[in-house]
Amino acid sequence: MGDEILVGDRVVFQPAGESVQEMHRNSGESSSGIIEDLLPRKTVLIRPPVANVEQLVLVMSLQEPEPDWQLAGRILLMAGQENIEVFCCLNKIDLIAEKELESFYRLLDPLPYALVWSSAKMGTGIAQLSEKLQGRFSVFAGPSGAGKSSLLNAVQPGLALKTGEVSSRIGRGRHTTRHARLLPLDQEGFVVDTPGFSRVSLSGLDPRRLGGLFPEFNGHAGRCSFRDCNHIHEPDCAVREAVSAGEINSCRYEQYRLFWQELTGKER
Ligand code: GDP
Ligand code: ZN
Repeated sequence: MGDEILVGDRVVFQPAGESVQEMHRNSGESSSGIIEDLLPRKTVLIRPPVANVEQLVLVMSLQEPEPDWQLAGRILLMAGQENIEVFCCLNKIDLIAEKELESFYRLLDPLPYALVWSSAKMGTGIAQLSEKLQGRFSVFAGPSGAGKSSLLNAVQPGLALKTGEVSSRIGRGRHTTRHARLLPLDQEGFVVDTPGFSRVSLSGLDPRRLGGLFPEFNGHAGRCSFRDCNHIHEPDCAVREAVSAGEINSCRYEQYRLFWQELTGKER
């Protein structure tokens, strides 16, 4: 990414040709000047392109559009690589019948990520979301149409972010948020609202790091027979045993295998 300046970057800024009086008149804000230095970044995300965020809010709608778990897995890996904390907002619960919602709870609650079950439409989960954003620098990520802008508007109506209709034909949102923007929150903290996206590449991730980025493997991987076990075909693999015993979600393990194959180019 070279020296390109990202949303969230901290810089040394020299206002151009303004007297101190003018600076005061402009409430200390100056629109033109020279960026003299780019300060070291604590974290960098490539998608969305943003620097220094502390937490990522993964927004998935449970319907319209239906959740894309593979995309969710890729976003979780991307955040994990940078040690960015994550929580997931499962949105549009108002569109889901109670029985179906229960099966979502059963599937997702045991995963090692904090979850907020929300409906921007009904106001469900908004207080919880708001509390998690307080005083932090967060980025919202997820597919278009999942409800990122609607959730932010529910947290802080003054933001008045544009929201998009989900096309009923393809169940996908149009790309309503055009570029990443830094939004200050009344309750302290900043949020980056970004365009939705549907693809995240894992290129550059060392496959040997992959297992460590699945937090639910951590308690088991130390008991694999091989110290550098890839949890794919090795004998006496404690991770695969935990999958068989139902202690690790088998869909997550399948996702691990898929990503491992993608990164190594190996089938098995
Ligand atoms: P974004 O692309 O992720 O920012 O999604 P938007 O916030 O633009 O929302 C896409 C569409 O989903 C809009 O028509 C919203 O009104 C709708 N929407 C957002 N949240 C909810 C929700 O909780 N329930 C329902 N039923 N619709 C929602
Ligand atoms: Zn193993």
